[in-house]
Amino acid sequence: MRDVIVAANWKMHTTPADAGDLATTIAARTRVPGVTRVICPPFVCLAAVRDALAEHDPSVAVGAQTVHHELAGAYTGETAAPMLVGLATWAILGHSERRRDAGETDDLIGRKLSRAVDAGLRPILCVGELLEEREAGRATQVVETQLRGALAAADPQALASAGFVIAYEPVWAIGTGRTATASDAAAMADAIRTGLTALGWPDGGEGVPILYGGSVTSVNIGEFMAEPAIDGALVGGASLKPDEMAGIVARAGITAAARGLAG
Ligand code: PEP
Repeated sequence: MRDVIVAANWKMHTTPADAGDLATTIAARTRVPGVTRVICPPFVCLAAVRDALAEHDPSVAVGAQTVHHELAGAYTGETAAPMLVGLATWAILGHSERRRDAGETDDLIGRKLSRAVDAGLRPILCVGELLEEREAGRATQVVETQLRGALAAADPQALASAGFVIAYEPVWAIGTGRTATASDAAAMADAIRTGLTALGWPDGGEGVPILYGGSVTSVNIGEFMAEPAIDGALVGGASLKPDEMAGIVARAGITAAARGLAG
C-alpha cells in the first residue's frame, strides 16, 4: 500500500530564529499514525528545523526545496545535493516557481533528480500545467511531457528504491485559492501512472505516491484524500499555519487508517 504523505513547502518564509519553533509546533499538532510528514524550509533554516525536530519529534522528515544539478563548482549561491547530507532527507524538485523563476527545464530537473537520489534524498518531482494549457485541453499532454523529460535518463528501479514521489500541482492552483477538482486531480494521477508504465516503471507506477498540490487547506483536503489515486498533499501557504496543518494531517490520517497504515 502506498505511503500517505503530507509535505510542507515553506518557500521563502521563516528565519533560522523562528523556524525551529514553528516546526516543533506543527510536529506536535500533527502526530497522526500512518502519515508521513515532511517539512521543507528554506536552506538557511534546515539546520534549525533539523535540530528542533531531532529533539521534539524525529518522525517528521526535513526536506530541501531544490538541489543543484552539479556536484560542485563555480555556481554562486547554489547548493549541491551532497551538501544536504545530515541536514535533509527529502528534496522537492521541479517546483513550478523554480521552472518559472529559475528557468528550470525538464532536462535540468532530471539531472537534479539523479543528484538527489545519489545523495540519498527522497525526491518529490513536481509537475503541472498552466491555466491556458488546461483551458486548451492540453493538461495531460503537458504533464506527460514534463514526466518524460525529467525521467528520460532515470533508472526507474533506482528511483523506485529511493521512494520516488510525484506532486501534481496545476500551476494556476498554486497560491491562488483555486484548486483542481478532486476528480480532475485523480484523473491526472491515473494519467501519470499510465505515463510511468510507458516509461517502463517496475509495477506500472502503482507503487509511486502521487500528491496533489495547489491551495490545499484543512477545508478542501478531504475531497482529495477521498480519491484512491491520490496519496497526500504538497502544501504551501497553509503549511505555515499549525491549525491548518493539524486539520490537513488529521484528514490524511483517516485515509492512512483506511489503508491499514496506521499500525
Ligand atoms: C506549493 O508551493 O507547492 C503549493 C502547492 O502552494 P499553495 O499550497 O500555497 O498553493
